[in-house]
Amino acid sequence: MYANKIICFLKEKVALEDRKKRIVVNVVLGPFTHVTIDSLKAAFDAVLANEELGRVELCVKKNEVSIKCKKCGFVTKSAQPVFSCSACKCPDFEILSPEEFIIQSFEIK
Ligand SMILES: [Zn+2]
Repeated sequence: MYANKIICFLKEKVALEDRKKRIVVNVVLGPFTHVTIDSLKAAFDAVLANEELGRVELCVKKNEVSIKCKKCGFVTKSAQPVFSCSACKCPDFEILSPEEFIIQSFEIK
């Protein structure tokens, strides 16, 4: 679960004395994941309630995907899942940005 990954990340990176401060975590969701920004935030809040962490805010962005067609070489960029090349409709492609979930950075305020 992504929410648990964020908690583990925070426990590893945030010093004990900083856990009472406001923490903003920047997270990027890949376009192929079924997790929405709202469901991730809700899941995170539920997990956070059981942890010894202070006020943590998630700043979630949806990433674009890039696919490269194996037939014509055209690169399609989209924020939505893509299933075929937008130039020739060929379904045979290589995914150039496969990351599903990235914890980009965090800030202690
Ligand atoms: Zn193509």
